[in-house]
Amino acid sequence: MTRHVHTMQRHTVVLREIEVRRVERLSLHMQRVIFGGEALRGFLSASPDDHVKLFFPNSQGQLVLPTPGEGRLEFPEGVERSPMRDYTPRRYDDELNELTIDFVLHGDGPASGWAEQARPGQRIGAGGPRGSFIVANDFDHYVMIGDETALPAIGRWLDELPYGAHAIVLAEIPGSGDRQSLSSQAQVDFTWLERNDADAASSQRLEQALEQLPTPTGDTFWWIAAESGRVRRMRQYLTDERGIPKDWLRATGYWKADGTEDDA
Ligand SMILES: Cc1cc2nc3c(=O)[nH]c(=O)nc-3n(C[C@H](O)[C@H](O)[C@H](O)COP(=O)(O)OP(=O)(O)OC[C@H]3O[C@@H](n4cnc5c(N)ncnc54)[C@H](O)[C@@H]3O)c2cc1C
Repeated sequence: MTRHVHTMQRHTVVLREIEVRRVERLSLHMQRVIFGGEALRGFLSASPDDHVKLFFPNSQGQLVLPTPGEGRLEFPEGVERSPMRDYTPRRYDDELNELTIDFVLHGDGPASGWAEQARPGQRIGAGGPRGSFIVANDFDHYVMIGDETALPAIGRWLDELPYGAHAIVLAEIPGSGDRQSLSSQAQVDFTWLERNDADAASSQRLEQALEQLPTPTGDTFWWIAAESGRVRRMRQYLTDERGIPKDWLRATGYWKADGTEDDA
């Protein structure tokens, strides 16, 4: 029997206007926003690794959304486009028709700024997911490594892992006020790594914890999401120093520190 086969599902890209229903502060730097609206019906997200493109009001307070064109998004000419950022669908409840997105409040940027002031009734745009990368469910262990932007994906993955699965999580956060309670039916070995407000782009907490983590016995899938430069270096460490096969590793840069050019 073939083991560890990942699948890629493609979806027709749908662009929607979605409306804030509720806002909940999950932790010091994490704002949960729950969206609703008729346009959400049929929303499909098949993997915790998915992302949607969210569109925020431009500097004039207007939503200027694109339309899906031939393989790309086409914006109207002559008006300031809505800024667009990637976010994880933390949960979609099709009975309630509610989409939950968890925003890191990092202090700067259209997405973080919008999330901080979000109120019921406000509208933003959402596009996608365009595709879902579905990780094989037959690994002996899943190691998830990420900073606070990865917590929505990690939280969702833990929600969806079945009883009997094994996960190891290394989660870096700004400080103790950023811990949140995450649940799972799986057996989870979870480590919070507080960087005590050190810079998120240059902290080494994840890297140090990774170096100290023994490679689990059995087949292990490794997933990494954090600042791009850090992700690139951790991926290189796993492939070069630990000999982790390419297909057993997925590493994605979730944001870029100013000045970095690499694209993990
Ligand atoms: C596939 C994918 C899924 C993602 N899912 C989520 C998610 O569910 N929740 C979430 O919060 N983020 C998520 N992100 C990360 C998010 O898209 C970025 O952090 C994004 O840059 C935030 O946009 P902004 O408008 O707030 O800041 P930007 O305008 O992009 O950046 C402004 C400044 O802030 C810095 N910056 C950006 N993000 C951070 C950060 N997290 N910490 C410190 N400094 C930062 C930049 O270097 C820049 O200097 C995801 C990214 C990807 C690629």
